[in-house]
Amino acid sequence: MGSAVLLAVRDLVRRPLAVEQDYPRGAIALEDVNLDWAGPLRVRGEARWSEAGLRLRLRLEGEIAPVCARCLGPVPMDISRSLDLLYRPAETMSPDDDLMLPSAEAEIGFFRGEGVELDEVVREQILLALPMRAICSEDCKGLCPQCGVNLNLETCNCGAGAA
Ligand SMILES: [Zn+2]
Ligand SMILES: [Zn+2]
Repeated sequence: MGSAVLLAVRDLVRRPLAVEQDYPRGAIALEDVNLDWAGPLRVRGEARWSEAGLRLRLRLEGEIAPVCARCLGPVPMDISRSLDLLYRPAETMSPDDDLMLPSAEAEIGFFRGEGVELDEVVREQILLALPMRAICSEDCKGLCPQCGVNLNLETCNCGAGAA
């Protein structure tokens, strides 16, 4: 499903890099979250290095589908957004550094090692966009607690799901 994109500091110190990455549905793996699917997602923008850190200005476009809390069906939602992110090397961080954070408008993150993995950035944005509780429709009838039939699609015969 495509290779991981590392935005490496060693490349960015020389010149800014254009970010152009497409993630097909399912390419971003997310475990332990109530997500039916994520994607396709399209990421466009620029990565650059400055004294402040690794700056990412990106446009994220696409959809995710959290799972309906009642019927467990997918609830598609658009998560398109513009991002202004600043990543600083974690190892250089000290408690006093808070005072030096340069930008009020950028969201601050940290990275370890050679740089920032674009997949991780996208994964984080998906988690941020994920609602605590998704409902496919206010009228969603959910699953029959006894036989498990999706009551939006059929009426069950067990008696427990009858309204
Ligand atoms: Zn539902
Ligand atoms: Zn039933």
